[in-house]
Amino acid sequence: MREVKRTLAFMLRVAWREKPALFVSYLILFVGDAVVAMKNVLIPKLLLDELMLVTEGAPLSAHLRLIVLYAALHVVIDVLVRASNSVAERTKGEISQWFQQYCDMMIGEHAMKMDFEHTEDPDALDQLNKAREGMSWYSGGVVGILDCVYQIVLNVAVLGGVTTLIFTRCPLLLPIQVAALVVISWLTARNNEIETRSFIGLSKSNRIFSYVLFQLASFQYGKDIRLYDSSRMMGDRARRQSDEMTDIWKKRGIEQIRYTWGIDLVNVLRDGVGYFYIGMLAVRRVISVGDFTMCVMSATQLYNSLQNIIFNVMEIKKRCNYAYQFVLFLDYPAAMQTGDRSLVDTGSEGHVIAFRDVSFRYPRSEKYVLRHLNLTIRQGEHLSIVGLNGAGKTTFIKLLCRLYEVTEGEICIDGVNIMEYAEEEYRKLFAVVFQDFKLFAFSLRENVAPGLETVDEKRLEQVLTQTGLYEDAQKLADGLDTTIYKSFDEKGVELSGGQQQKTAISRALYRDAPIVILDEPTAALDPIAEYEIYRQFHTLVGGKTAIYISHRLSSCRFCDHIAVFAEDTVKEYGTHDELVVREGGIYAEMFHAQAQYYVDQGAMN
Ligand code: ADP
Repeated sequence: MREVKRTLAFMLRVAWREKPALFVSYLILFVGDAVVAMKNVLIPKLLLDELMLVTEGAPLSAHLRLIVLYAALHVVIDVLVRASNSVAERTKGEISQWFQQYCDMMIGEHAMKMDFEHTEDPDALDQLNKAREGMSWYSGGVVGILDCVYQIVLNVAVLGGVTTLIFTRCPLLLPIQVAALVVISWLTARNNEIETRSFIGLSKSNRIFSYVLFQLASFQYGKDIRLYDSSRMMGDRARRQSDEMTDIWKKRGIEQIRYTWGIDLVNVLRDGVGYFYIGMLAVRRVISVGDFTMCVMSATQLYNSLQNIIFNVMEIKKRCNYAYQFVLFLDYPAAMQTGDRSLVDTGSEGHVIAFRDVSFRYPRSEKYVLRHLNLTIRQGEHLSIVGLNGAGKTTFIKLLCRLYEVTEGEICIDGVNIMEYAEEEYRKLFAVVFQDFKLFAFSLRENVAPGLETVDEKRLEQVLTQTGLYEDAQKLADGLDTTIYKSFDEKGVELSGGQQQKTAISRALYRDAPIVILDEPTAALDPIAEYEIYRQFHTLVGGKTAIYISHRLSSCRFCDHIAVFAEDTVKEYGTHDELVVREGGIYAEMFHAQAQYYVDQGAMN
């Protein structure tokens, strides 16, 4: 019930906020549908009463005007309502389509804004899928749900109208109709239960049947089926499943038949008793012939409206349960709390980063990746982080960027725990190029300056020239406006690995953040090419704080400090000259092991 309430409140709120015209459509439909329903009950009565008077001897001339008026009303109402309903239905259809896209966008936007941690959380991913499915055809979307509400409101109103009419003319018809509906609803519910039960059995058999017939018939199984002579076994299996399915259908038919007959019987009884009752009233002249027709029509309308209300109440429950997954997704709890503190400009000293006794394990993992890590990085410092694969270097960066929250200890910037800073402002501190950086299938320009409404063309050109991408871009048909990849644009280009790296690095530089980080975006390159890129970057970064990650030492030489990650923490820390001579040191050992790369490279020494 809570699901239905919350989902309905959400849908009504969103519809009212985004497309109030939807309610105008419903209002037009309501007036039209209600008027037609009442007209169908009332006009035949009025017409018949007039005609009866004429057949009983009243002068035609006295009644002709009314007869023509009622007949004309009957036609005119129909025509007008059809016209207005078609306009309202068209508007509603357009709005429904619009909401489908709107909800997809809401899901997309929310997924992009969710805490990064959720992108690896199976529960969150599952919720995302449920939200997508629940909001599409399962629930019929915003309009699908509001349609049910509309049907309930309309039928309650019509029910009110016909009940009043019945009450004034043939009150006993009410309990007859209601009793019949209660019994029929009960019988239908039994039928549905049988259907659901057999559906579960059928879907299992169906799955096996489809597997045998369609999956195994595919050529990928060709060898195994032939070599092991399995075709007969497959045929037998398919026949067995087919027999099983036929049995289920048969059993279902037999089980349902008494309920179906029961429904027919109650319908016949209801009509028989009802007609007898109003027939008797008419014969005894308690009601007119027109009233008789009106009561028959009202009884049918009453029954239909009641059935409609019951159906839509069940439908609304079902649809809201699906759509509730969407509401839940939008409300998915944040993985971490964030503050609203501002990063005050600390003047010439800039920002000081301090890891204080930080330990961390990934969510849903028992194993600590970092333990009791202490490290300070001053403004303008260039730090190189080295270590074997899996030593926790990327994790260190993810923690610094607040993609995850530390398990123990704290990370401070300018002496304040980073969780206390406002998220948007905090993110602006960093320009990171990750190893698995992603480019978008948009233009080169949009890739370097993403999401920035006004692009500083001069700076863009300057950055691209520095990274060498400008020259490459000039050779492309549309220059910087060339689309990357062919997903949306036939003329899109596939950039080489090197160009992609230059793009990612240009993006980081253009961002002009005070702290830049290269997390091995060059891992696929050979050590010499990597060294070249790191060296260039080192110059481009200038006085900013820079953190370079690499499992190769060639890239550390020019850094102020080197932190060696091993055994879940910073095992060694110092300058290249200090570490390279440390007796039994990890850095010294790695350096000598990799020395062959550098011996040939005079430039690096
Ligand atoms: P490095 O960057 O030094 O190669 P990482 O920081 O990527 O190392 O990984 C450190 C350890 O954390 C590895 O054992 C890795 O398997 C584990 N790890 C990395 N990412 C996740 C994750 N999202 N969930 C669980 N474990 C992870």
